[in-house]
Amino acid sequence: MKRTYWLMLWAAIGSAACDVRGDASLPAPAPASAATAHYLANAGVLVERGEIKIVFDPLYRNGFGTYRLLPEPLERALFAGDPPFDGLDAVLVSHYHGDHFSAVDLLRLLSERTELVLYAPAQAVAEMRELAGSERQAIFSRVNSVALEYKDPPVVMETSDLIVEAVRIPHSGWPDGRLDVENLAFRVTLGGDTTVLHLGDADTRDVHYAHDADYWSRRDIDMAFPPYWYLASKDGRGVLKNRLTPNAAVGVHVPKDMPRDPAGRPAEYRDADLFTTPGETREIKD
Ligand SMILES: [Zn+2]
Repeated sequence: MKRTYWLMLWAAIGSAACDVRGDASLPAPAPASAATAHYLANAGVLVERGEIKIVFDPLYRNGFGTYRLLPEPLERALFAGDPPFDGLDAVLVSHYHGDHFSAVDLLRLLSERTELVLYAPAQAVAEMRELAGSERQAIFSRVNSVALEYKDPPVVMETSDLIVEAVRIPHSGWPDGRLDVENLAFRVTLGGDTTVLHLGDADTRDVHYAHDADYWSRRDIDMAFPPYWYLASKDGRGVLKNRLTPNAAVGVHVPKDMPRDPAGRPAEYRDADLFTTPGETREIKD
């Protein structure tokens, strides 16, 4: 039933987003696996392990002319709680930039889906608080506002289904710019077994990870979602190989003109696994 719905949804996306899709064929249904990552758009990823579901950076309004916006059928499904977002447990926001976050939309989502919990940097939560009238303050009892300075120790937040760990990694541009941006790297373990990592717009330098070397070696990462520039940079590749050591890495935040076919990409991205098309999935093996 659920798979049928997915296929219908992707068919709808295909027609709605045909201007940016080079390949109109539907993705094959993912085989049964420990967990599955579903690509939304830009840095948006839904991770599903059985009944446990989380989503990273799902709602934003600015593609800066370079990045894909969330396809409308997916946006509608997210607000309605329809598959694949039925039973969604948590939303995680990496940072408050307009290609990752929309305060208006997150407020609306939390208002309409009263079961949802949000994890976000204090900087993003402050923006939401400013927008929320006094009648919507109750929402913030479901908001985990993460206030971390650079080099603060990572924080851990646990529920019965999730272990959410966050550490501040500077936004790309460090050390020359965007130093004020509270960019969070979230390492999340679903159901005690599947661990995924989302880096937001993290800078690639090793120094940010060397600082918490023990933290990074403490838990095996089954799948990482680094911004795509990690996969073409010496520093980024080094961090993945030496510090994060994920079993698999799929680049996100990919410009919409990046070909889905590796052979058509710039040379430095031909051997990288990238999410390029909304609706793509990857199996996550424990
Ligand atoms: Zn950013």
